[in-house]
Amino acid sequence: MQNHNRNNKILITGGAGFLGSHLTEKLLKEGNEVLVVDNFFTGTKQNLAHLLGNPHLEIMRHDVTFPLYVETNQIYNLACPASPVHYQYDPVQTTKTSVHGAINMLGLAKRTRARILQASTSEVYGDPEVHPQPEAYWGKVNPIGIRSCYDEGKRCAETLFFDYHRQHQLDIKVVRIFNTYGPRMHPNDGRVVSNFIVQALQGKDITIYGDGQQTRSFCYVDDLIDAMVKMMNSEDGFTGPVNIGNPGEFTMLQLAETILKLSGSKSKIIHKPLPSDDPKQRQPDIELAKEKLGWEPKVNLEDGLKETIAYFKKVVA
Ligand code: NAD
Ligand code: UDP
Ligand code: UDP
Repeated sequence: MQNHNRNNKILITGGAGFLGSHLTEKLLKEGNEVLVVDNFFTGTKQNLAHLLGNPHLEIMRHDVTFPLYVETNQIYNLACPASPVHYQYDPVQTTKTSVHGAINMLGLAKRTRARILQASTSEVYGDPEVHPQPEAYWGKVNPIGIRSCYDEGKRCAETLFFDYHRQHQLDIKVVRIFNTYGPRMHPNDGRVVSNFIVQALQGKDITIYGDGQQTRSFCYVDDLIDAMVKMMNSEDGFTGPVNIGNPGEFTMLQLAETILKLSGSKSKIIHKPLPSDDPKQRQPDIELAKEKLGWEPKVNLEDGLKETIAYFKKVVA
């Protein structure tokens, strides 16, 4: 594989979003040509503002549910709203983005013979009965619930990736991303880390859904991006899927208390109803990532939260 040089024309769909903007920054820093394709549904030009003067970056407004004809030799397919509030706003468009978006990007990869990586998700495991979740677990997903547009859309995208691989010999890579946080998360996107930090900084009540005993495992964005690029450049033939996340597992109550401590906030904790189909627990098994990518996360929750709180202080305080 060519990498880290100006002959590498890398397409990032969803490049103006939270993860996409960090990925764009890293790939430009490493000396690549980057084309960002985004419809700016949840992403913003502001996320890329610090990179706009870079002559090796091109940004195109485009919706991946429509065909795209460009030349490229690597594709990172990240386009898709990731927070429940955003992906449930227009659920039909969410499924279209995952499914039609995957078909178009796989068609593009087939024509250009580009290597293509799919940003899949721990949500393919649904509300898991196996804990922690290894890649071999098939998941427990409700096909008709309010989260299904996202979960089933991402599952179908994985199916398409593996069928293009088997049927058309495409060079595919699939990563299953677990909850990730850090600077440039959207302040109003409704995800738990951004919600709690914004509430703490503004002195508003911290809204725990349900009893707060449900768990998540939070990965700092720099660790996540590092793994994603390692996966893209991993040995030929390793398709994944591979879990990427930080196995440190916390209840939402513990997360709220940690954010209150680190921000010095006097906000009080209140409880709101638990949304339907909310998974009770989630923790990645990352043995495969360790073995195949030589990767494991380096940033612990407190250090990552300090960076994230510092970012949100500039944006909302
Ligand atoms: P995000 O919402 O910040 O970014 C998604 C980007 O995709 C946005 O810039 C948005 O405008 C763009 N987009 C949405 N629909 C599009 C369409 N039809 N055509 C073109 N662009 C479109 O979310 P994120 O956290 O950066 O997530 C990026 C990817 O990683 C998503 O595919 C998401 O499912 C996946 N992921 C993220 C997490 C996480 O914790 N952040 C976890 C699992 C998976
Ligand atoms: N496609 C695209 N860009 C390309 C090549 C294909 O967007 O450079 C789209 C094309 O519109 C098609 C989809 O990708 O709908 C799937 O392409 P494929 O070649 O697999 O299927 P076919 O064109 O044979 O239906
Ligand atoms: N959550 C919460 N308060 C909030 C936002 C979310 O208690 O203000 C809970 C939510 O019910 C879930 C967990 O935090 O149990 C993680 O939610 P998020 O939307 O960040 O991610 P996902 O559910 O997709 O993992």
